[in-house]
Order: sequence, then structure tokens, then C-alpha cells
Amino acid sequence: MNEEKPTRPCPVCKAPMEETLQDYIVPVEDGDDLIVEDVPIWLCEQCGYSEVDEEVIATIEDMLDHMDEMLEDSSGAEE
Ligand SMILES: [Zn+2]
Repeated sequence: MNEEKPTRPCPVCKAPMEETLQDYIVPVEDGDDLIVEDVPIWLCEQCGYSEVDEEVIATIEDMLDHMDEMLEDSSGAEE
């Protein structure tokens, strides 16, 4: 069977990093941080370094663009 998990070397300590699904906190300019669940994050268990693929960040940013549209639609309704 060929079921090796993909790894990549940690740029800090060279240990193999594994991809894990975690909550990713996106800082939002106008207030509350946004938490995106189950984002694939490369994590080094040895030194705690973590990184997110550029294409994953691009996907999140794309999602945020659409979220802005949604927020504009419903702005001013509550409070
Ligand atoms: Zn490391």
C-alpha cells in the first residue's frame, strides 16, 4: 500500500511537517477576526512552526470577497 502522508521539511528545524486541519484565524480590518474552520495547515511538531499554502490563502481570500458582498446586503438591519 502506498499511503504515506505527504510531508515537507520544516524551514526552521528540517523536521518533516504534516498537513493538519485546524481553525485558521483571519484578521479582518474592520473589527472581529474571522475564524475559518478545517483549514489545511502544515505543522511542525518539533518546533511549532506552521504555514499555510498560498493557494489555500487565495481560496480563503476569495471566500472573504464573497462574504463582503453578503455583509453589504444585510448591513444596517440589526442593532
Ligand atoms: Zn520545525
